Amino acid sequence: MSSLTVSEVTKSFGATPVLTGIDLHVPNRSLTALLGPSGCGKTTLLRLIAGFDEPDTGAIAVGDRTVTGAGRGVPARRRGIGFVPQEGGLFPHLSVAANVTFGLPRRERRDPGRVRDLLALVGLDAALAERHPHQLSGGQQQRVALARALAPRPSLVLLDEPFSSLDAGLREDTRQAVAEALYASGATAVLVTHDQAEALSMADQVAVMRAGRLVQLADPQTLYRHPLDLDVATFVGDAVVLDADVRGGQAHCELGVLPLERPCPEGPSRILLRPEQLQLGGRTAAPTGTIARVHSVEFYGHDARVLLDLPSGLQVTARLDGSVLPADGAEVAVAVSGAALAFPARAAGRDQAGRDQAGRDQAGRDQAGRDQAVA
Ligand code: ATP
Repeated sequence: MSSLTVSEVTKSFGATPVLTGIDLHVPNRSLTALLGPSGCGKTTLLRLIAGFDEPDTGAIAVGDRTVTGAGRGVPARRRGIGFVPQEGGLFPHLSVAANVTFGLPRRERRDPGRVRDLLALVGLDAALAERHPHQLSGGQQQRVALARALAPRPSLVLLDEPFSSLDAGLREDTRQAVAEALYASGATAVLVTHDQAEALSMADQVAVMRAGRLVQLADPQTLYRHPLDLDVATFVGDAVVLDADVRGGQAHCELGVLPLERPCPEGPSRILLRPEQLQLGGRTAAPTGTIARVHSVEFYGHDARVLLDLPSGLQVTARLDGSVLPADGAEVAVAVSGAALAFPARAAGRDQAGRDQAGRDQAGRDQAGRDQAVA
């Protein structure tokens, strides 16, 4: 397997720029997720790496070998890149074994042990080898597609939203099996997804794309805890976004005076908290924290989201472990654990963040509410 390096790549379709100045390095034997909203250019970038399309400018190298740029244009079939499309793309008239064999180099095609090994690598029983794709679940089909892509021992594996057609339960199992197979095979991989949970749980690094640009490249924990801006913050997870005034190195906001995760200029700002930082207590004689009313509770078993109406009318979300939950309409004291991440108001992308949040959680509320809304 090899590393991947994308340098200053741009691409337009007609007069419309779709990718602008993309720089991306994927280290050898690691998985990078390309994460972004629909239409931001993820698939276009993947197709340029695969060689299905050519960039207007810039270069792409697999290991030390430039496959695009500097006057070179290595055809897709000679790049040594495996590709797993959205729906698997298996040949419907061929058995599982024949589909996987199709990916094998000619000299290995007579060795039934190779197919068995590849099926085992993706967590499939050898007994499935004689079935046809329509006799498999969607998740099994995706695993066969990965086995076929890994068969020629590619330098790099590209996966284009491989789990998007699977239902939630199957998606998690298949995700895990695919991640384990990629790891066991020592693959270098790029996964396109618009699902932040998928990106955060599977990838070594996440490349967040927005409107044709790569806006942040970071490991999952850094991305979640130190997003570049509020748009990235709200895209990679639920967020509590509040207006605040930064004074004396602390954020003064509706939930109290909070320490800051990193220094921020004094003055008006927007702060980011994650819902798991909100802690709820009963409304006792001497409550600590802001008093809020429970708007509703969404119970997921392992945890729960509690929507809270703050005194200002702003709605925020707390994420609790699900063992003891408040009732709808109850009054609770809200305290904050940990620090807040502050963005100076001018740089906070306030209008956009407000619109995004409003769209998700505050439909129908007035403009003032929308401005401070919380996902
Ligand atoms: P999705 O998550 O919906 O698949 P994406 O992030 O993968 O989206 P792309 O498929 O890369 O986005 O598309 C980026 C933009 O380029 C879109 O506006 C799309 O309409 C446009 N586009 C993609 N392919 C072509 C093409 N062949 N001709 C013209 N425009 C295209």
